[in-house]
Amino acid sequence: MVTMRVECPVCKKEKKIEIDPTSAKGIVCYLAPADKVCEHILLVFVDEKGNIHRVQRLDHIGVDTAVGIPRARGMSLRGAMKVFGPVFTDMISAVLLGKTLVLCDDVDVAITVYNTLARLFTTSVSLGENVLIIEDCTQAPDDAYVVNCRYAIGRGDVDTSAHKSLERYLREAIAVNDNEAAVMFVRQRLSGLQRAADVVSEKVEARINVKNLIAMIEQETGITFKYDDIHAILALLRSRGQTERADLVQMGDLNGF
Ligand SMILES: [Zn+2]
Repeated sequence: MVTMRVECPVCKKEKKIEIDPTSAKGIVCYLAPADKVCEHILLVFVDEKGNIHRVQRLDHIGVDTAVGIPRARGMSLRGAMKVFGPVFTDMISAVLLGKTLVLCDDVDVAITVYNTLARLFTTSVSLGENVLIIEDCTQAPDDAYVVNCRYAIGRGDVDTSAHKSLERYLREAIAVNDNEAAVMFVRQRLSGLQRAADVVSEKVEARINVKNLIAMIEQETGITFKYDDIHAILALLRSRGQTERADLVQMGDLNGF
């Protein structure tokens, strides 16, 4: 980590930000929160050599500074699904399964969709770590899932094992005409998948069929799961490097579903 000094374009006072210039190729966007010296929230675009390319005030694109911490506004879930279509599911899947997500080209849209995504997870979705906002899409790391936010086009491999579950959660969520409830519903479901993956990694030590597995994780978590969710849970285990444990689950038997 390197400490950099940034001049606020609004009040001309100096802010310090901690950056990791080696974290990605190209220009990476960092968030500089409001502090005692300068009340403005800034987006600072820094390249891998540590040169500052642009400093932009975040407040004007919808940040609530009243509580002292940056709480940027996102799109509604319904809005994000409308704007990004299937790419939105890919983005959730990438974050869920620990793949680096790059949002690029249109920075304002990128920030907005980042805020929407971050609200869906109880675990931290950090800007500059698992999600990068960069201006030039061609500068994205090779192994990332890259979304051009100007055209809502996604590129890169993403594990689609969780897609059926994610699409069902989103569909059920937006059936409620209340964005807060919809966000909370998806967050509960995603957090339920994480808990179920924890249970599998703690309890499953021998081969088990999917029906018994569902009964077991439902008993342990108190949450109801469907067959598709098991695909998502096993993808989570594989993303945590627990492929051998995931392989203990026999998916073949669909009787009773
Ligand atoms: Zn300022």
